[in-house]
Amino acid sequence: MLALGASVVSAQSASSGGFTREDIQLRDDLIAAQETLLNVYRCQFGLDIEVVPGGCTGGFPAQGFSRPAEFKGIPTSEDIAVRDRLVAAQETLLNTFRCRFDFEIYARITPDGCPGQAQSEPSLLLALDGLVRPEDLEGDPPPGLITPSGVSVAVLGVNEGRFVVTTPCGSISTVSSGLPLQGVRVVIDPGHGGAYDVGAVGPNGLAERDLNLTLSYAVLNELSSRGIPAASTRNGHYGSLLSVRAAFADALGAEALVSIHHNGPTYRTGNQPGTEVYVQSVSAQQARADSARLGGLLHREITSALSGFDNVAWSRVADAGVLRVLSTRGRDAYGMIRRPTVPAVLVEYGYLSNRSEAALFATDEYIRVAAKATVNAIEVYLNTDRLGTEPTQRPRVFNPARAPSRCNEVVLE
Ligand SMILES: [Zn+2]
Repeated sequence: MLALGASVVSAQSASSGGFTREDIQLRDDLIAAQETLLNVYRCQFGLDIEVVPGGCTGGFPAQGFSRPAEFKGIPTSEDIAVRDRLVAAQETLLNTFRCRFDFEIYARITPDGCPGQAQSEPSLLLALDGLVRPEDLEGDPPPGLITPSGVSVAVLGVNEGRFVVTTPCGSISTVSSGLPLQGVRVVIDPGHGGAYDVGAVGPNGLAERDLNLTLSYAVLNELSSRGIPAASTRNGHYGSLLSVRAAFADALGAEALVSIHHNGPTYRTGNQPGTEVYVQSVSAQQARADSARLGGLLHREITSALSGFDNVAWSRVADAGVLRVLSTRGRDAYGMIRRPTVPAVLVEYGYLSNRSEAALFATDEYIRVAAKATVNAIEVYLNTDRLGTEPTQRPRVFNPARAPSRCNEVVLE
């Protein structure tokens, strides 16, 4: 779940010397991937096409991917610095393209949004004319709210005419109004988020926290279009603690919690998608059965949908499938599986660390197909007793790194 980004950042902070060819390679791979993306933009928007090697055909670079040259010699700190400056310059140029052309998916991954342009949000979040105040209510307060600034929170009660809520960082605060979340059947959890929790990073610079959010928005819109009431644990580029996300789903009494992730790294390859779905094993019996059934349906729909993409060199580990992952203490290893009382699953759609998959994940078509497959599975789970892929017999034993506990509070209204 963590790959390139962390290594690049830690290498940047090294004062001098001690660099390896791998440090160079990491950067050269990123530079080549960003150059490819820039060339795609140039061809798509007909801008600066004279700098695209070989020109454009059909809106894409005629020569396809840019490939890094092999680095020979002994890396110096200057070799690193030159590359880091180039990465930063490319990133700035990419963001300019993203903003200038309002390329929806990319505008969302521009870290601070674009000047003069609101972030694209799912239609659910635009319904802020439905804001209610505690005095508007006849009975109990709703179990959750979307605050006026678009943040999902669990409601603890009402005090002095204000809603008392849990913030994404786990503090107690109050808001004057919000969009009530009532009768929510499904909670979607875009994994990672904020400055301290990037997740995996693809060779094309795509960060897991942003990709998960983009896919979650598409899933929420699809759920909404099928009339399935849903909410998200995170509605923007901010961090939120796992304990808060789990408690939010529990407070809403949802029938399912689906945590959306993209994996990395692995060096193994496969001829089919390496989608992994983690399900609950030590929770209450009914939640455990529901979690396994939902996980099985998600795995079947998602792998079948992703298999429809041609020319993807997939990554896949041997026990990929519907899995119970236990820590060496015998508990569910992942917090988003262990903590919620409601039936929960965590989906790793594929490997963002893999160049070929990262290129796919950056497309609108992937977002559309993956969102549809996810909602197909959720709909079957809610409306039938059908089963999907069987969980693998043997649990995987794994102690994941602890989720970051640093968290910046966001403005609630
Ligand atoms: Zn992740």
